[in-house]
Amino acid sequence: MKAPAFAYARATSVANALELLTAHGEKAKVLSGGQSLLPAMNLRLLAPELIIDIGELAELRGVVVKGGLITIGALTRHVDLLRSPEIAAHAPLLTDAVAHVAHPAIRNRGTIGGSLAHADPASELPACMLTLGATIIAHGPSGERRIPASEFFAGIYETALEPQELLVAVELPVPPKKSVYFFHEFARRHGDYAIVGLAAQALVKDGQIADLRLGFFAVGDRPLLARSAGKLVDVAITSTVLSEACSALDQELDPLEDQQATADMRRHLAKVLMARCVSSLLDRPGLRAGALA
Ligand SMILES: Cc1cc2nc3c(=O)[nH]c(=O)nc-3n(C[C@H](O)[C@H](O)[C@H](O)COP(=O)(O)OP(=O)(O)OC[C@H]3O[C@@H](n4cnc5c(N)ncnc54)[C@H](O)[C@@H]3O)c2cc1C
Repeated sequence: MKAPAFAYARATSVANALELLTAHGEKAKVLSGGQSLLPAMNLRLLAPELIIDIGELAELRGVVVKGGLITIGALTRHVDLLRSPEIAAHAPLLTDAVAHVAHPAIRNRGTIGGSLAHADPASELPACMLTLGATIIAHGPSGERRIPASEFFAGIYETALEPQELLVAVELPVPPKKSVYFFHEFARRHGDYAIVGLAAQALVKDGQIADLRLGFFAVGDRPLLARSAGKLVDVAITSTVLSEACSALDQELDPLEDQQATADMRRHLAKVLMARCVSSLLDRPGLRAGALA
């Protein structure tokens, strides 16, 4: 199927993109890499009257690390993140995660801004943003708005962005030097959307977890920063403690059922990931089996 007819405007600057968005609002859609927007239009799930192409706005592309913050421009492509030495050095969780986003052809065009604005609950990057405590920076008719990732994702394909707003960048605090991370997802094939996934960041001190952020994805209508992580912090982790944290996670989840998995399967896989994550962060492979017994 082909998309219905639409008008096209190539934005010449961020200010120009904002003028167009202010004038056309809900009737317009921003085009970044087109890897989600164009398939949705071809399937006639979306029919914007105007496409505002921001693809040429070089000022929205790139990674800058300064003053304890990593700023990533909205038009930074998945492949740029994958190859970025700054990201590998300061946020290696992202390097690992991006390798699971789709396939090379899609990663060559798709952007971080597009992925976050699209807000597919099975996407890797939204969960990473929760885990890393990101702030999403949007520009709109009344200036800049800084939105914590925890308030940005509002539902399936729904975010806190207003129709007149442009996502311009993402800001992440550089994780503490000794922090460790875990990323894993279950997918039918590498590159497919996840059935269930987990992006985690932690501090481990004297064999105990001192800080832990668990960002699950594909377990509900939006990514989830699991509160049950709290049960694993500042305690000696035994299989009983892990098992209690897994039960607490089960209470938090509200997974959807689709062609890929039932809700029960997703609950089970989320607990498997939590056990794997903790055993990997503490380098204690024996914990995995105990927690789910
Ligand atoms: C076969 C296939 C497999 C895929 N598998 C995965 C996967 O495993 N994991 C995954 O995460 N993604 C996957 N994707 C999606 C892909 O990663 C997209 O690159 C990404 O979701 C969107 O980025 P984009 O730059 O192409 O955005 P676009 O398609 O250009 O835009 C997506 C949406 O975001 C809006 N938007 C874009 N940029 C902005 C902005 N700066 N400000 C405001 N709104 C904006 C658009 O208006 C549109 O609604 C897959 C896509 C395909 C086609």
